[in-house]
Amino acid sequence: MPSHAYLVKDNNELVSHCPCPQAQIAYPPQADCPWCGCGWLFSCIDCRKAFTFARGVQVSEPWEELGRRDLRAMFEKEPNDDDVDEWVEFMKRFLAEVEVGKQYVVFDGRLIPTDKVRLDFDGWHATHQLDFVPQVAALKDKAILATLLSNVNYWESHALGDSTPSALGLPTVRDRETKWWKFWK
Ligand SMILES: [Zn+2]
Ligand SMILES: [Zn+2]
Repeated sequence: MPSHAYLVKDNNELVSHCPCPQAQIAYPPQADCPWCGCGWLFSCIDCRKAFTFARGVQVSEPWEELGRRDLRAMFEKEPNDDDVDEWVEFMKRFLAEVEVGKQYVVFDGRLIPTDKVRLDFDGWHATHQLDFVPQVAALKDKAILATLLSNVNYWESHALGDSTPSALGLPTVRDRETKWWKFWK
């Protein structure tokens, strides 16, 4: 059976509202308010709730079926083939670097290995230059939740203007942001 790398919840540390023992990630639900958590938490493909830390695993479920399952849960109806194709194209790119056994967080549209020491990139919403991975640092220093991750001022003072997925070459994602985003809260 062919298989490929995917991400599942690694633990319930920092922020986790997902009770599922085996939680695969859903399509990253980031909207225009990354500070609410949509810009720095994963969500569970089954219960749709948020968690912080994920781990690379090998799965045998084909991309199309994962996408169909995620979209069905998101829209509460059978998705059309275009939606599934778009999901697959995005997720393959999003997860391209995933290594089995390695731990990751999501931060502003970027998948970040938790052992990374320095962040220097333009995300979907803002530019980031940090000497730590914020979710990892927040495990030791909870203040980082309030001063950075959930802080509107941090995100807005570093904002890039129109840096939504569409501005970064993901045109079809934009139209669905609002629609998909509704399922987050
Ligand atoms: Zn769950
Ligand atoms: Zn948000």
